[in-house]
Amino acid sequence: MELEGLPPIGGLLESSLVHWEGRVAAVVFLQGCNLACPGCPAPHLVPRAAAGGAEDGSGGVVPGNLIPAEGVLDAVFSRRAMLDGVVVAGGEPLLHDTLPDLLEILRSFGLQTRVHTNGTRPRALRRLLEADLVDSVALTLRAPLNALYSVAAGTEVDLGGIWRSVELLLGDPGDHEFRVVVDPRLLTREDLLALGRTVAGARRVVLEPAARGVLAGRPGRDYGGSGGTGGADRNLGAA
Ligand code: SF4
Repeated sequence: MELEGLPPIGGLLESSLVHWEGRVAAVVFLQGCNLACPGCPAPHLVPRAAAGGAEDGSGGVVPGNLIPAEGVLDAVFSRRAMLDGVVVAGGEPLLHDTLPDLLEILRSFGLQTRVHTNGTRPRALRRLLEADLVDSVALTLRAPLNALYSVAAGTEVDLGGIWRSVELLLGDPGDHEFRVVVDPRLLTREDLLALGRTVAGARRVVLEPAARGVLAGRPGRDYGGSGGTGGADRNLGAA
Protein backbone atom coordinates (compact mmCIF):
# COMPACT_ATOMS: atom_id res chain seq x y z
CA MET A 1 0.00 0.00 0.00
CA GLU A 2 1.43 3.39 -1.06
CA LEU A 3 1.14 5.69 1.96
CA GLU A 4 3.52 8.45 0.99
CA GLY A 5 1.80 11.62 -0.06
CA LEU A 6 -1.43 11.06 1.83
CA PRO A 7 -2.93 14.20 3.40
CA PRO A 8 -1.65 15.24 6.86
CA ILE A 9 -3.69 13.63 9.63
CA GLY A 10 -4.09 15.59 12.87
CA GLY A 11 -6.49 13.33 14.75
CA LEU A 12 -8.44 10.06 14.81
CA LEU A 13 -11.66 9.08 16.54
CA GLU A 14 -11.83 5.31 16.32
CA SER A 15 -15.62 5.18 16.43
CA SER A 16 -18.39 7.72 16.58
CA LEU A 17 -22.18 7.56 16.56
CA VAL A 18 -22.68 11.26 15.92
CA HIS A 19 -20.60 12.20 12.88
CA TRP A 20 -22.80 10.29 10.41
CA GLU A 21 -26.40 9.74 11.42
CA GLY A 22 -27.41 6.11 11.53
CA ARG A 23 -23.89 4.83 11.12
CA VAL A 24 -20.97 3.79 13.25
CA ALA A 25 -18.02 5.64 11.79
CA ALA A 26 -14.38 6.27 12.45
CA VAL A 27 -13.44 9.93 12.04
CA VAL A 28 -10.14 11.01 10.50
CA PHE A 29 -9.30 14.68 11.06
CA LEU A 30 -7.04 16.30 8.47
CA GLN A 31 -4.72 19.14 9.38
CA GLY A 32 -5.22 22.61 7.94
CA CYS A 33 -8.11 24.94 7.25
CA ASN A 34 -8.60 28.03 5.09
CA LEU A 35 -11.15 29.66 7.43
CA ALA A 36 -10.70 31.15 10.89
CA CYS A 37 -14.14 30.76 12.47
CA PRO A 38 -14.20 32.46 15.89
CA GLY A 39 -16.04 29.50 17.42
CA CYS A 40 -13.94 26.79 15.78
CA PRO A 41 -14.30 23.63 17.88
CA ALA A 42 -10.92 22.33 16.67
CA PRO A 43 -8.50 25.28 16.49
CA HIS A 44 -5.51 22.95 16.71
CA LEU A 45 -6.48 21.59 13.28
CA VAL A 46 -6.58 24.99 11.60
CA PRO A 47 -2.86 25.77 11.04
CA ARG A 48 -1.51 24.36 7.81
CA ALA A 49 1.57 23.37 9.79
CA ALA A 50 0.87 21.14 12.78
CA ALA A 51 2.15 22.20 16.18
CA GLY A 52 5.86 21.57 16.22
CA GLY A 53 6.03 21.60 12.46
CA ALA A 54 6.48 24.39 9.97
CA GLU A 55 5.21 25.50 6.59
CA ASP A 56 7.43 24.18 3.84
CA GLY A 57 7.10 27.37 1.82
CA SER A 58 4.92 25.82 -0.86
CA GLY A 59 1.69 25.58 1.07
CA GLY A 60 2.54 22.07 2.20
CA VAL A 61 2.89 20.82 5.74
CA VAL A 62 6.04 19.67 7.42
CA PRO A 63 4.92 17.11 10.02
CA GLY A 64 4.95 18.21 13.64
CA ASN A 65 2.43 16.44 15.82
CA LEU A 66 0.79 14.73 12.90
CA ILE A 67 -0.35 11.15 13.30
CA PRO A 68 1.36 8.73 10.93
CA ALA A 69 -1.06 7.64 8.23
CA GLU A 70 0.02 4.04 8.60
CA GLY A 71 -1.13 3.91 12.25
CA VAL A 72 -4.45 5.55 11.40
CA LEU A 73 -5.14 3.15 8.55
CA ASP A 74 -4.12 0.18 10.69
CA ALA A 75 -6.56 1.27 13.42
CA VAL A 76 -9.41 1.70 10.94
CA PHE A 77 -8.64 -1.55 9.12
CA SER A 78 -8.57 -3.58 12.35
CA ARG A 79 -12.00 -2.20 13.33
CA ARG A 80 -13.60 -2.40 9.91
CA ALA A 81 -16.02 -5.17 10.91
CA MET A 82 -17.49 -2.88 13.58
CA LEU A 83 -17.70 0.17 11.33
CA ASP A 84 -20.11 1.23 8.62
CA GLY A 85 -17.89 3.94 7.32
CA VAL A 86 -15.26 6.61 7.80
CA VAL A 87 -15.82 10.34 8.04
CA VAL A 88 -12.96 12.52 6.85
CA ALA A 89 -13.21 15.91 8.54
CA GLY A 90 -10.85 18.73 9.41
CA GLY A 91 -9.71 21.29 9.21
CA GLU A 92 -10.87 21.43 5.62
CA PRO A 93 -10.26 18.08 3.90
CA LEU A 94 -10.77 19.44 0.40
CA LEU A 95 -7.61 21.57 0.68
CA HIS A 96 -5.58 18.42 0.10
CA ASP A 97 -5.02 17.19 -3.44
CA THR A 98 -4.32 13.71 -2.10
CA LEU A 99 -7.68 13.35 -0.36
CA PRO A 100 -8.91 11.06 -3.19
CA ASP A 101 -6.02 8.66 -2.49
CA LEU A 102 -7.03 8.42 1.18
CA LEU A 103 -10.69 7.86 0.28
CA GLU A 104 -9.72 5.17 -2.21
CA ILE A 105 -7.80 3.30 0.49
CA LEU A 106 -10.70 3.58 2.94
CA ARG A 107 -13.11 2.35 0.28
CA SER A 108 -10.81 -0.63 -0.34
CA PHE A 109 -11.45 -1.64 3.30
CA GLY A 110 -15.10 -2.12 2.37
CA LEU A 111 -16.16 1.04 4.20
CA GLN A 112 -18.41 3.87 3.12
CA THR A 113 -16.96 7.37 3.08
CA ARG A 114 -18.21 10.77 4.12
CA VAL A 115 -16.41 14.12 3.85
CA HIS A 116 -17.16 17.12 6.04
CA THR A 117 -16.43 20.40 4.25
CA ASN A 118 -16.82 24.14 4.70
CA GLY A 119 -17.83 24.39 1.05
CA THR A 120 -15.05 26.69 -0.11
CA ARG A 121 -13.46 24.23 -2.58
CA PRO A 122 -16.14 23.45 -5.18
CA ARG A 123 -13.73 22.16 -7.84
CA ALA A 124 -12.23 19.61 -5.46
CA LEU A 125 -15.73 18.65 -4.35
CA ARG A 126 -16.82 18.16 -7.95
CA ARG A 127 -13.82 15.92 -8.62
CA LEU A 128 -14.71 13.72 -5.63
CA LEU A 129 -18.33 13.40 -6.72
CA GLU A 130 -17.39 12.66 -10.33
CA ALA A 131 -14.88 10.03 -9.22
CA ASP A 132 -17.59 8.49 -7.00
CA LEU A 133 -15.26 8.45 -4.00
CA VAL A 134 -17.78 9.68 -1.41
CA ASP A 135 -21.10 8.24 -0.34
CA SER A 136 -22.01 11.35 1.59
CA VAL A 137 -20.90 14.96 2.01
CA ALA A 138 -21.79 17.16 4.98
CA LEU A 139 -21.43 20.86 4.13
CA THR A 140 -21.46 23.34 7.00
CA LEU A 141 -22.93 26.80 6.46
CA ARG A 142 -22.35 29.60 8.98
CA ALA A 143 -24.37 32.55 7.71
CA PRO A 144 -26.45 33.62 4.72
CA LEU A 145 -24.38 33.93 1.58
CA ASN A 146 -23.71 37.64 1.91
CA ALA A 147 -21.06 39.81 3.58
CA LEU A 148 -22.02 38.42 7.00
CA TYR A 149 -20.33 35.16 6.01
CA SER A 150 -16.86 36.63 6.38
CA VAL A 151 -17.72 37.67 9.94
CA ALA A 152 -18.84 34.13 10.77
CA ALA A 153 -15.77 32.61 9.08
CA GLY A 154 -13.26 35.06 10.55
CA THR A 155 -11.77 35.77 7.12
CA GLU A 156 -12.76 36.85 3.61
CA VAL A 157 -14.72 34.11 1.92
CA ASP A 158 -15.42 33.48 -1.77
CA LEU A 159 -19.20 33.31 -1.58
CA GLY A 160 -19.46 32.11 -5.16
CA GLY A 161 -17.38 29.06 -4.27
CA ILE A 162 -19.65 28.12 -1.39
CA TRP A 163 -22.66 28.68 -3.56
CA ARG A 164 -21.26 26.36 -6.26
CA SER A 165 -20.67 23.68 -3.62
CA VAL A 166 -24.26 24.01 -2.38
CA GLU A 167 -25.57 23.65 -5.92
CA LEU A 168 -23.37 20.61 -6.56
CA LEU A 169 -24.76 18.80 -3.53
CA LEU A 170 -28.35 19.82 -4.21
CA GLY A 171 -28.02 18.38 -7.70
CA ASP A 172 -26.26 15.16 -6.70
CA PRO A 173 -28.14 11.98 -5.75
CA GLY A 174 -25.79 11.12 -2.85
CA ASP A 175 -26.75 10.99 0.83
CA HIS A 176 -25.66 14.57 1.50
CA GLU A 177 -26.59 16.94 4.28
CA PHE A 178 -26.23 20.60 5.14
CA ARG A 179 -25.28 21.66 8.63
CA VAL A 180 -26.19 25.18 9.73
CA VAL A 181 -24.28 26.63 12.66
CA VAL A 182 -26.76 28.70 14.65
CA ASP A 183 -25.14 31.51 16.61
CA PRO A 184 -27.82 33.80 18.07
CA ARG A 185 -25.18 36.48 18.60
CA LEU A 186 -24.75 36.67 14.85
CA LEU A 187 -27.81 35.37 13.03
CA THR A 188 -31.30 36.81 13.01
CA ARG A 189 -34.51 35.03 12.16
CA GLU A 190 -34.30 36.57 8.68
CA ASP A 191 -30.79 35.16 8.23
CA LEU A 192 -32.01 31.67 9.10
CA LEU A 193 -34.91 32.01 6.68
CA ALA A 194 -32.46 33.08 3.96
CA LEU A 195 -30.33 30.03 4.73
CA GLY A 196 -33.42 27.85 4.53
CA ARG A 197 -34.09 29.17 1.02
CA THR A 198 -30.47 28.57 0.03
CA VAL A 199 -30.69 24.87 0.88
CA ALA A 200 -34.29 24.36 -0.25
CA GLY A 201 -34.64 20.86 -1.66
CA ALA A 202 -31.87 19.40 0.51
CA ARG A 203 -32.28 15.83 1.68
CA ARG A 204 -31.31 16.73 5.24
CA VAL A 205 -30.57 19.96 7.09
CA VAL A 206 -29.14 19.83 10.60
CA LEU A 207 -29.06 22.84 12.91
CA GLU A 208 -26.10 22.81 15.25
CA PRO A 209 -25.40 25.22 18.11
CA ALA A 210 -22.31 27.38 17.72
CA ALA A 211 -19.35 26.60 19.90
CA ARG A 212 -18.29 29.43 22.15
CA GLY A 213 -15.94 31.92 20.58
CA VAL A 214 -15.42 35.62 20.30
CA LEU A 215 -17.09 37.03 17.21
CA ALA A 216 -15.86 40.15 15.50
CA GLY A 217 -19.37 41.48 16.09
CA ARG A 218 -22.32 41.95 13.85
CA PRO A 219 -21.53 45.17 12.04
CA GLY A 220 -24.89 46.83 11.47
CA ARG A 221 -27.48 45.52 9.06
CA ASP A 222 -26.17 46.58 5.67
CA TYR A 223 -24.23 43.70 4.16
CA GLY A 224 -24.55 44.73 0.57
CA GLY A 225 -27.63 42.67 -0.17
CA SER A 226 -31.31 42.96 0.55
CA GLY A 227 -33.03 40.31 2.61
CA GLY A 228 -29.73 38.57 3.23
CA THR A 229 -29.30 37.41 -0.32
CA GLY A 230 -26.38 39.45 -1.64
CA GLY A 231 -27.32 38.10 -5.05
CA ALA A 232 -26.06 34.62 -4.21
CA ASP A 233 -29.06 33.30 -2.34
CA ARG A 234 -31.76 31.44 -4.21
CA ASN A 235 -35.16 32.78 -3.30
CA LEU A 236 -37.20 29.64 -3.72
CA GLY A 237 -39.80 30.75 -1.23
CA ALA A 238 -39.43 27.61 0.84
CA ALA A 239 -38.96 29.32 4.18
S1 SF4 B 1 -14.18 25.67 8.85
FE1 SF4 B 1 -14.25 24.26 10.62
S2 SF4 B 1 -12.10 23.72 11.05
FE2 SF4 B 1 -12.10 25.55 9.72
S3 SF4 B 1 -11.95 27.27 11.16
FE3 SF4 B 1 -14.14 26.94 10.69
S4 SF4 B 1 -14.88 25.56 12.33
FE4 SF4 B 1 -12.61 25.47 12.35
